[in-house]
Amino acid sequence: MLVAPTLRAALHRRLLGWWDAGHRDLPWRYPQRAADPYRVWLSEVMLQQTQVAAALPYYRRFTERFPTLEALAAARDEEVYALWSGLGYYARCRNLLAAARLALARHGGLPGSLEALRALPGLGPYTAGAVASIAFALPAAAVDGNVARVLARLFRVEGAPAARRVRERLEALARALVHRRRPGDWNQALIELGATVCRRSPACARCPVAASCAAREAGRERELPPARRRPARRRLVLACAVIERRGRALLVRRPEGGLLGGLRAFPAAEVGEGEDGRVALARAVRREHGLALRVGLELGRAERILTHRRLLVIGYRCRASGRPRGEAAWVPVGGLAEAGLPGAMRPLIGAALDARAAG
Ligand code: SF4
Repeated sequence: MLVAPTLRAALHRRLLGWWDAGHRDLPWRYPQRAADPYRVWLSEVMLQQTQVAAALPYYRRFTERFPTLEALAAARDEEVYALWSGLGYYARCRNLLAAARLALARHGGLPGSLEALRALPGLGPYTAGAVASIAFALPAAAVDGNVARVLARLFRVEGAPAARRVRERLEALARALVHRRRPGDWNQALIELGATVCRRSPACARCPVAASCAAREAGRERELPPARRRPARRRLVLACAVIERRGRALLVRRPEGGLLGGLRAFPAAEVGEGEDGRVALARAVRREHGLALRVGLELGRAERILTHRRLLVIGYRCRASGRPRGEAAWVPVGGLAEAGLPGAMRPLIGAALDARAAG
């Protein structure tokens, strides 16, 4: 038996008691059986790799503009990307839109089964488990980084949670612990404990389950789980062409799958080590879009931290001759802010407007 019934009952009583006594008031929090599946799902997607404070304004704007799954599924891609712009990890947005349309076509809404949720684009085991338990009261586990940390400490599980053997043990513990009547509240309480009390530096003195914590009993609560070693972020330079004709700027669709994949963006080139950005840009724009480019003054630069990279974006004012190949659009310069450009390129909009005003 993975978890003794007395321990399981004690954890349920203490943690749900703590949850019921009060928790952070966030717009996507719902009492069990009163949740809106679409909003639960949207919040879980937005919170992946993103802090609550950063996700909040996006969540509010999104639910105002797309209050239902139907509204999101019927939206134009560009409008959805524009609202997402700045939140990063754009694959999430692409998957969100694809999953909304597929769920509606296949099930008439978000499906109330773990298997059907898992079959939608972008719904991994954590997101599917969170939506199934919170929105549909299904007894599914949901192990994110917070929950993995709490369980590793409560049960003194040695080793890095990313290692397969450790991950499988944590998931088995999570499944064994799910509360049958209140699975959503239970999962949210575990997540909340990890986010507010059992943080990397744990506040055990105010932990509701401290009496049952094996790591604390052994004095190892600060050592478990071992800190993840992140590889140093590689620097990447992206040269961008701001090409304007008669008050309109050229935007192209970036290839799916790569950096900022699928988004509308200024034509751009990744600049290799020791390479001249202007030369790389002219070559890439000719090859990919069939335009002869004259690269002019630098308009501005902006830095962005991505998961594994530090991105430096440099914008150049350019002139181009020819007709662009592939999916391209001339967008009024005054409307660039609403065009769904990736956040990393947005600082170039102001520079483009300034340059235009200066002639
Ligand atoms: Fe985490 Fe400390 Fe609570 Fe254990 S006692 S679960 S280490 S906060």
